[in-house]
Amino acid sequence: MTTDSLSETDSTCLINIENDQSYPSVVISQDDAFSDTLLQAILRARDAFGRNVTRSVDFRIDQLKKLRKCIDENYEEFVGALKADFRKPRMESVITEIEYVKNDIQYQLDHIHEYVKPQHVQKGLANFFDDAYVHYDPYGVVLIFSAWNYPVQVLLCPLVGAIAAGNCALIKPSEVASNTEKLFAKLLPQYLDQDCYHVITGGPEEATRMLQERFDLVFFTGSPVVGKIVYNAAAKFMTPVILELGGKSPVYIDESVGSQMTVAVKRILWGKLVNAGQTCIAPDYVLCSPDVQDKFIKAAKEVIADFYKTDPKLSESFARIINVKNFDRINSLLSKTTGKVVIGGETDRDECYVAPTVVAGVSSSDSLMREEIFGPILPIVTVDSADEAIAYVNRGEKPLTMYIFSNKKDVVDRFLARTSSGSTCINDTLMQACVHALPFGGVGNSGIGSYHGQFSFAAFSHSKAVLAKDYNPVLEFLAAARYPPYTESNTNRLKLLIAKSPLDNLNMRKTLSYAFTFGLGLATMLAGVFIYNKYV
Ligand code: NAD
Repeated sequence: MTTDSLSETDSTCLINIENDQSYPSVVISQDDAFSDTLLQAILRARDAFGRNVTRSVDFRIDQLKKLRKCIDENYEEFVGALKADFRKPRMESVITEIEYVKNDIQYQLDHIHEYVKPQHVQKGLANFFDDAYVHYDPYGVVLIFSAWNYPVQVLLCPLVGAIAAGNCALIKPSEVASNTEKLFAKLLPQYLDQDCYHVITGGPEEATRMLQERFDLVFFTGSPVVGKIVYNAAAKFMTPVILELGGKSPVYIDESVGSQMTVAVKRILWGKLVNAGQTCIAPDYVLCSPDVQDKFIKAAKEVIADFYKTDPKLSESFARIINVKNFDRINSLLSKTTGKVVIGGETDRDECYVAPTVVAGVSSSDSLMREEIFGPILPIVTVDSADEAIAYVNRGEKPLTMYIFSNKKDVVDRFLARTSSGSTCINDTLMQACVHALPFGGVGNSGIGSYHGQFSFAAFSHSKAVLAKDYNPVLEFLAAARYPPYTESNTNRLKLLIAKSPLDNLNMRKTLSYAFTFGLGLATMLAGVFIYNKYV
């Protein structure tokens, strides 16, 4: 049984997927207890949304503050869960997860009154005296799936957007970061409204069962492979999706960085080695000339020694691979490379440890270039020019981020104009994600849609177009030309009314307010002159 009649008899959502070899086939959870929990949660959330609970901006603000309270009162538990999941260093947990979410909450709190306001738009002559605006509607009950690599950030930031925009939500943390998953399941119901927000735990089977239900939006963070499954399942109900996916984000570096090579390498390696390379926007590989490759490797040896001292394995500043399955995948990519390991290369399966590793002279067909590495290994592919690098990038899928390290404006401009990526960061890595006002998202294989800041509110809102008219008889007379019987003269009158005119660019409210202020100023001046002439 499902909550939607459409899904009662239709279990075809996986059929197309199973026919495509690139999709892993997953059994749908047959667990009745799970189905009961799921359906209860959906019905409660739908009921709450139907009662307009989340339409109140005060309610949204209250829930955002409660979410922040949840984080503040359990700060160390979050740090502990992240450490237990993948020995995430405290600094990374604080900066890239916990404080990141708190800042996101504050951003929404600071702007929510501005975001919810209807947005008035320009109009043509035909609607000059009407009110035309965009009204932001919450979608309803949304489903949020998150990935394991930043389990706090990529679950809570979408939730912050969903709450700010006035939705109810079912949220499924990743089962892979199991300590953090358990913490969410325990804590969130203690702080958030229990009708509107529900944590549902489970893995692929449960996720597949969830996708059989109708939601008003699905927000998914994860791999492109599973992203396609989600997209397919959502298509059955024409449900809008936001897909935050991954891929291979390239770095191009040229000789113009000159004496700044060490700083550039520091920024690239930090972006690669944070969270042991398990970052969706981590630099995946480097493109540079053979000469720059030599300078890069020399600097990289010093930088890694500086970051982690004698042995990265003993450093408290370096995380572990999340589990043996991912360790084996990364280890296999490394063991099959035909490139030359010039830094690192050590691995330890018992500890899920992969050393910070740089591999030089990697070819495009190398194992390391076939899939997103998602680990602390940086391959270098040599190219002879920026144009060759651009062609190389364009032969692959559109990346989540393109990193350009160059002091040449024309090189930067060429990459910007000729490559397509979710974001581009020039002379640094990862920091683009810290600018809350910038959209965060991919393009093509790296994702659909974006969020963060105002874009989070927009991602979880439907922009409803509204035109409001009254019954003014003069305007009705002018527009009556649209009614049958159609005549040539009426057609000509209408053509004039709908034609683009300079007046279209006038903002009626602003124009009237300027005209009023000007008129008031003029009247005051004339009154002054009159009083002066008469009485002085
Ligand atoms: P994943 O695709 O394996 O899992 C993501 C979510 O989907 C999890 O909640 C999981 O339970 C669920 N899931 C797994 N199999 C499923 C199935 N068959 N049907 C339905 N749901 C299923 O991804 P992951 O391994 O957790 O994360 C790594 C990937 O996520 C990388 O590609 C990384 O680049 C990407 N990522 C992207 C962003 C971003 O913001 N763009 C952020 C973090 C991670």
